[in-house]
Amino acid sequence: MAADTKETITVQLHELTAWELTQKLQQREISAVEAVEACFDRIAAVEDRVKAYLCLTRDQALQQAREVDARRASGEALPATAGVPIAYKDLLCTDGVPTTCASRILANFVPPYDATVVERCSQAGLPMVGKANMDEFAMGSSTENSAFQITANPWDLERVPGGSSGGSAAAVAAGEAFWALGTDTGGSIRQPASLCNLVGMKPTYGRVSRYGVVAYASSLDQVGPLTRDVRDCALLLGLIAGRDQRDSTSAAVPVPDYTEVLGRDVTGLRAGIVRELLYGEGIESDVREAVEAAIKTLDSLGMACEEVSLPHSEYSLPCYYIIAPAECSSNLARYDGVRYGHRTERETTSVYDMFAKTREEGFGDEVKLRIIKGTYVLSAGYYDAYYRKALQVRTLIKRDFEQAFERFDLLICPTSPSVAFRIGEKADDPLAMKLADICTLPINLAGIPAMSVPCGFSGGLPIGMQLMGKPFDEPTLLQVAYAYEQSCDWHRRRPAL
Ligand code: GLN
Repeated sequence: MAADTKETITVQLHELTAWELTQKLQQREISAVEAVEACFDRIAAVEDRVKAYLCLTRDQALQQAREVDARRASGEALPATAGVPIAYKDLLCTDGVPTTCASRILANFVPPYDATVVERCSQAGLPMVGKANMDEFAMGSSTENSAFQITANPWDLERVPGGSSGGSAAAVAAGEAFWALGTDTGGSIRQPASLCNLVGMKPTYGRVSRYGVVAYASSLDQVGPLTRDVRDCALLLGLIAGRDQRDSTSAAVPVPDYTEVLGRDVTGLRAGIVRELLYGEGIESDVREAVEAAIKTLDSLGMACEEVSLPHSEYSLPCYYIIAPAECSSNLARYDGVRYGHRTERETTSVYDMFAKTREEGFGDEVKLRIIKGTYVLSAGYYDAYYRKALQVRTLIKRDFEQAFERFDLLICPTSPSVAFRIGEKADDPLAMKLADICTLPINLAGIPAMSVPCGFSGGLPIGMQLMGKPFDEPTLLQVAYAYEQSCDWHRRRPAL
């Protein structure tokens, strides 16, 4: 019986965490080329059902892997993670590889350079598997706003993987990449991580360079890891974090070794349980119960958990949906048919007519809606009523966090108010879709780091717990997440595809 059980849990190569793979690579049990091939074998087996990728870069991945193998064979000291294949959200610029943002307007755009995060990962020897699907220009919470395809949740193919980094999350959950990079403007790393049973982190604003990251809302956007466990998250964050001359908003704060805190005792750490975001309206009871159980576990590990209120958090949704569209309307003005991507082939009567027809053809409905809203809240007469007020509210939200962090080392709530919903279920109900982000939006408005950690299941669908920290205190989040992870095995579950 016991032998039988052992048999059935034999782990296949594509199911390993990135750090487990790292060990096999270093011990030369397998080669980087074999690791890439394992990803592509898995892609061949499941991608027609999952549809995580917009573009696969097999030749490039094999080339990068061969270089890693050759350098390792020659005895060269390589970064520990060299040879572990990665997927990139399709708004990270990749030199010579299409970067579409899942938009028709950029369908043919091939960047002439790498985003800094991509450059750092390839310097660390990570072969690029491909570019992952997303909501168009990262606007959405389900990946249904992609102009090209709908990605399925590997845990239930009739459900969404979350968004906007849904392709990145689905690829990692399905074993089609060992880890991935996404971006998070209002929850787009953490929410898909939660819905796909992954660890996902939005680092502090300024922790990671945004150079070469196609902008959605520049004061909120941040790149971060989607991984199978906390150690992988720490490793990948370490690769991408740090000051970049080419992004003036990247911080000159030294980058610690994020793996150093893993395994450190959490006794005495104080966690604030955010009342509004755990007991508030809209949080599904199974989600609440799973997070409550996780908090009990943290208690039993010696942490002091206590309720705290963030009184302005209820204004996060309206505040975000003024600021993000305002910034997007400005950022997306550059897609005019002159400089990038698509240009209308219809007859045009003036240059303005050309802009209008190009944009009408190139953008999807959600993107258009946000550009219109953003233009409205920034226009004379409405600026004070909406945009300026939203900035003031943003300050209040930020202050709530500052006050809470005077008493607590970190804060806790669910990542998503519900488990993965059905494809199409919320597509026609913009408010319901936006409510998917109630727990994640305040973090981007405050600029602080937060991560989602698997903490349970409801009806076979994953649930995530969100840990929020002080600016640049990613280490405490990783320390607590790791301690929690060691005491459960949610993160070890893999979907049966
Ligand atoms: N769902 C939110 C939005 O649509 C957040 C998206 C994101 O983080 N990129 O704006």
